[in-house]
Parts: sequence; C-alpha cells; structure tokens
Amino acid sequence: MRPFTPGQHALLETALLQRLQQIDRRLAEQLGGTTRAEHARGVLQQDGDDAPQRGAARELDLAMSDRDTVALGEASAALTRLRNPEGGHYGECDDCGTEIPFDRLKVEPWALRCVACQEAHEHTSAH
Ligand SMILES: [Zn+2]
Repeated sequence: MRPFTPGQHALLETALLQRLQQIDRRLAEQLGGTTRAEHARGVLQQDGDDAPQRGAARELDLAMSDRDTVALGEASAALTRLRNPEGGHYGECDDCGTEIPFDRLKVEPWALRCVACQEAHEHTSAH
C-alpha cells in the first residue's frame, strides 16, 4: 500500500465508518418497519422530482436494499484493506493495479477500481 499521510488515512477511515453507519441505519429501518414513514419520506426526498408511485414503493425498497447490501460489502471490504496494509491493497485498482488518485478516494473511499476500470466494469455488468 502506498504511504498515506496520517491525515489522509484518518479522513478515509472516518468516511468509510460514516458510510457503514449510514447504510446500516438504512437497512435497519427497512428491516424494522417501525420507521416506515420516515424511510418513505427519505426516499421521496432523494427522488424529489420523480416521486415513486405507492405501488412501486415495495419494489423500490427491495432494489434499495440490494444496492445497500452491495455498498455495505464494498465499504467494509475497503475498511478492512485500509486497516490491514500488509494484506490488502487499499487504494490500488483491483483490475489493473494502478494507484487510485486520493481525490477519487476522498469522494468514494470504497472505490475498488480506477475510473477507467470502473467504467468498463459497470459497462460489462449492466443489463
Ligand atoms: Zn484500473
């Protein structure tokens, strides 16, 4: 792993932890059901200009929970890599081994690939 400054390292770790907490809370809300109204309001706020129809809410929930599960896995994998410099290769592209620029990591600390490989990956995995 490339040497991050302690400041960079702390920033990335904090961002990943916040991301994990955020997703955790969202998943808990979906599973719990007690905060249904709150959750629905959150969804509506996110898609302000294209409010989901009542009937589509359930499917939307499922889709979100899928995405969150993936995101949760990515964030926790990134955190593990960040905390285990010996074992992981945090900040290096999974596909080509290029160092992912810190500016990108700052925005997406869970990024596993450089921009070029990520785009290629999304293209091939798109349905
Ligand atoms: Zn790459």
